[in-house]
Amino acid sequence: MTTPSWTATVLTLYPEMFPGPLGASLAGRALDEGRWALDARNIRDHALDKHRTVDDTPAGGGPGMVMRADVVSAAIDACADQPGPLVYMTPRGVPLTQSLVREIASGPGAKFVCGRFEGVDERVFATRPGLEVSLGDFVLSGGEAAALTMIDACVRLLPGVMGAEASGDDESFENGLLEYPHYTRPQQFDGMDIPAVLTSGHHENVRDWRRQQAERITKERRPDLWAAYTHKQAGAPTARPSVDH
Ligand code: SAH
Repeated sequence: MTTPSWTATVLTLYPEMFPGPLGASLAGRALDEGRWALDARNIRDHALDKHRTVDDTPAGGGPGMVMRADVVSAAIDACADQPGPLVYMTPRGVPLTQSLVREIASGPGAKFVCGRFEGVDERVFATRPGLEVSLGDFVLSGGEAAALTMIDACVRLLPGVMGAEASGDDESFENGLLEYPHYTRPQQFDGMDIPAVLTSGHHENVRDWRRQQAERITKERRPDLWAAYTHKQAGAPTARPSVDH
């Protein structure tokens, strides 16, 4: 057992969703080994009435319910001593990227706020400023799946969790490119051979082939990444998001 160097504190109406998938495989083993810690707390514990109400109808009308500012802010204030920045999972946040994952993973952890219903009363964001993060341009039913995803991406980068492969430059996004294709045995499958260069033993040729493939795939599939990559190759500075730990 080691002392956890990274702690995920999660504020949710469904603490039973944690660790969920993070209890299995590499993240689960690392959790058991104490390489990271998880503290899932129920926002409902901070409800103020005997019915333990956490939501109410939206001011101005409209569908759905809104999470109450007094309840959510009390839950946030109660974990002020927990390490790391406050991270709100919300579709209006900055899109989650590998560089943001690296930044959060290199700190002491983070406190993740998971919304439900139509979301959280705006005054919570105003009075408890934090980093608003989105998983992508789609709508989940709650922030839990988003927090699980972000925690997964951070945990695999922690020391001792995965080994060398998680730190390589080769991985998708690490060098601004999608990754090259992989092959393993058998040598022939459904009439297709492994590309000869990969079994040639010629390391420089393998490296060149992989770079060409990574460039081809990125150019074909992600014109946005390709434009940023070629811009960077031309020597332009890149913008990086920054986070206060
Ligand atoms: N009414 C909101 C959606 C609420 S979905 C809107 O139109 O923007 C309920 C909760 O799910 C949100 O409060 C947020 O915590 C979470 N959520 C939904 N989609 C998400 C996404 N793409 N990224 C991160 N969190 C998301």
